[in-house]
Amino acid sequence: MPEVCTRFAPTPSGPLHVGHLLAALQSRRLADAHGGKCLLRIEDIDVTRARSREWVDLMYEDLAWLGLSFDGPVMVQSERFGVYGHMLERLKNMGLLYPCFCTRTEIKAQIAEIGRAPHATLGYLYPGTCRNLPPDVVQERLARGDAHAWRIDMQKVQDMVGCPLWNDLHRGVQRCVPTTYGDVVLARKEMPASYHLAVVVDDAAQGVTHVTRGEDLFDATHIHRALQAVLALPVPQYCHHSLLKDNNGKRLAKRDGARSLASLRSAGFSPQAVLRSLHIALQNQGIWQV
Ligand code: GLU
Repeated sequence: MPEVCTRFAPTPSGPLHVGHLLAALQSRRLADAHGGKCLLRIEDIDVTRARSREWVDLMYEDLAWLGLSFDGPVMVQSERFGVYGHMLERLKNMGLLYPCFCTRTEIKAQIAEIGRAPHATLGYLYPGTCRNLPPDVVQERLARGDAHAWRIDMQKVQDMVGCPLWNDLHRGVQRCVPTTYGDVVLARKEMPASYHLAVVVDDAAQGVTHVTRGEDLFDATHIHRALQAVLALPVPQYCHHSLLKDNNGKRLAKRDGARSLASLRSAGFSPQAVLRSLHIALQNQGIWQV
């Protein structure tokens, strides 16, 4: 059995909030419970996002204040576009990717036309409009430099790998049906690798054996499992924890700035008080703790 390896993988899109603390603690504690290690990965792949560096610096201050530490070198996604590009080439060479020229507005209109509601966690599922464009049209549009994204043809993926299994520590064995969530985007000009591609490549590169994260990413795990199957990457165990809610039962959102760890810190709370209140909230909300 390989040593248990977990990771905390925040996206620096704002200050860390209590929900991040829960995610960080789950991975740290799961690793500690097995004498394993817990890595840190900065998911700053969206280089169009402003203030990323500032949020990363603040994150380090918050983590130090809480006494939370991670093992090994920190992985930074914005330094790994070469690796993701290589994986994209592999998928292109396998004939699994196609360029999609639809704008977001067009996709919304196409979806409205077929009368489908957006998916709860994954948003608008692409109806496949550009999947079967005639090759000469594709060549012409690419040559013209038309803006496009690269999507993965999940029907081809499914024909190739079938319906692979994965295990969620809470929900048990899951069967991934690759076509369920449509042909997701793996890259676009301003973002050379999507979250789905980067997360799968990096979990494998870091040797992550247990992915702990919020249950809002449960559906995305089906996409990740499909990518692991075509890229022949190792399959970690998954552990999707419930999300923290506020006193009104509403999910804590990133925009809920009042609950950022930095704001609690500057309001004079001690790290012990923050950890204690989190523990009580988890107990009250029946959220599993390692
Ligand atoms: N970067 C994601 C976030 O901050 C988490 C991704 C993951 O755990 O796979 O929400």
